[in-house]
Amino acid sequence: MHPFSFSKVSSTREALNAGRRGGRYIAGGTTLVDLMRETVERPETLVDISGLPLREVTVTERGGLRIGALVTMAEAAAHRKVRTLYPVVSRALELSASAQLRNMATIGGNIMQRTRCTYFRDVTAACNKREPGSGCAAREGFNRSHAILGTSDACVATHPSDVAVAFAALEARVRLLGPDGEHTVPFVDFLLKPGNTPNREQALSKGELITSVEIPALPRPLKSGYLKVRDRQSYEFALTSAAAALHVRGGVIREAKVAAGGVGTVPWKLPAVEEALVGERPSDRLWAEAAGHAADGARPLQHNHFKVELLQRTVERQLRIVGDSK
Ligand code: SF4
Repeated sequence: MHPFSFSKVSSTREALNAGRRGGRYIAGGTTLVDLMRETVERPETLVDISGLPLREVTVTERGGLRIGALVTMAEAAAHRKVRTLYPVVSRALELSASAQLRNMATIGGNIMQRTRCTYFRDVTAACNKREPGSGCAAREGFNRSHAILGTSDACVATHPSDVAVAFAALEARVRLLGPDGEHTVPFVDFLLKPGNTPNREQALSKGELITSVEIPALPRPLKSGYLKVRDRQSYEFALTSAAAALHVRGGVIREAKVAAGGVGTVPWKLPAVEEALVGERPSDRLWAEAAGHAADGARPLQHNHFKVELLQRTVERQLRIVGDSK
């Protein structure tokens, strides 16, 4: 591990000052410390923000939810309002990582976590995300777990977060605090596709701080859930996953929010699936037809062609689970 300095801040003003001077924020530390041990990350200054007052879950004026950036994954998953209003969020959190990690890792850190691409974590391999311009070992390497959507010539790594898929489906917004005040960014714009700059992963200016994730109010009743397909049943990242929320009234689907994980360089919103659902009556045929659009635009790599059909089946199954639940 490379030497670094460490300080702890007790106010957002102190945090922003330290961030502006180039300090890296750390809270749970469950990703960053690992990457520092592997010398993938080499920050000179760490700024511990874990004492900031960003640890509340609140219902917003309009009936949505605001989840503070320092709420742990375990706290968010267990929170009564999260469980009752957005089961898709609590389920995605429960299926993430391990119990120990969920007790430490925060919501802000979770959406900032970096890819699990093995070449990214191997400092001897070519990786444009770690070392811009060095190449991408995964393109011609073993790319079974890599992305089929949103890729570029420069990078094909998936985004690893589960709860980010639920946030993308629900059209959440990320609240950011910078020197000029607060503003919000749509979740789907916050995480960046790799393009030619895979090293730039979030729409964050230097020193900006995530303060919360806000989920908008959605019409009720709303049934929602998250399905994750992986090689083993615990402590494993998704091969494919699906987050779905449906508002059905009078026997007709009025709103549909759907996104996929494990397949995109960012959590992958599925507008074509949503469009196929809205205005229709729930049926097995509808789930299959809508899910047929889940992999539209996919560009599989040598070892992950299987993800196209697996994604369609995952989305179909999750639509059926949510759509048929009482
Ligand atoms: Fe690096 Fe992305 Fe290629 Fe993985 S897929 S080696 S993260 S550039």
